[in-house]
Amino acid sequence: MREVYKALLELQELDEQIDRAEVALAEFSPRLETLEAPVAGYEREIASVRERLADMRSEVKRLEKAADQKRERLRNYEERLNRVRNVREETAARTELDLIRHAVDADDQEALELGEQATRAELRLDELEKQLSSAREAIAPQKEELLAARATSEAKLGGFRKSRDKSARKLTPDQQRLYDRTRAGKRKRVLAQLTHDGACGQCYNVLPIQQQSEVRQARALVRCEACGVILYAAE
Ligand SMILES: [Zn+2]
Repeated sequence: MREVYKALLELQELDEQIDRAEVALAEFSPRLETLEAPVAGYEREIASVRERLADMRSEVKRLEKAADQKRERLRNYEERLNRVRNVREETAARTELDLIRHAVDADDQEALELGEQATRAELRLDELEKQLSSAREAIAPQKEELLAARATSEAKLGGFRKSRDKSARKLTPDQQRLYDRTRAGKRKRVLAQLTHDGACGQCYNVLPIQQQSEVRQARALVRCEACGVILYAAE
């Protein structure tokens, strides 16, 4: 039974170390996020400028195609103008020609303006990419440090978990379940020493004489009726 107490104490110590290591590990994510915030900001902005740029380029293409189609129609009307038989037909063809010419000019103008906007967006993109790479450079040493510290923290946690498994194997399944149930409680404390006057070392509730002697002689795993910890006697 002394071996069981020993294994339980080991397990409790390791679980406390695991808890602390998990808390320490969890602190890395927000720290990394804060460090990378400026980089993430540039990345978001670059993505949105790229998206707008792609939209502008496809719109320019659409306008150029529309203008080409209108120019084709323009040629047809110009040919028709050569074949008019009277003034009325000529006037009608010229009116139609003027309308199409205006429409072509409007498309061309719009395509030109959009093309200029796209060029400005490209310049902005270049600028943003430079800013992004200097932002990345600026945080690189700190980021490397944080990632290395996180890796160490992870390795430490892994080591504790391995040791925990080893300690847990020293217990029977029943004893493991008792341990887990006790640890699942509010206080998370699993074991406490019985005081010299027979009280629970955690909540100071006095145990019945029968249970006190069971604990002192290490005959059974006794839990405090008041707070639930498993009690063990000082050697
Ligand atoms: Zn107690």
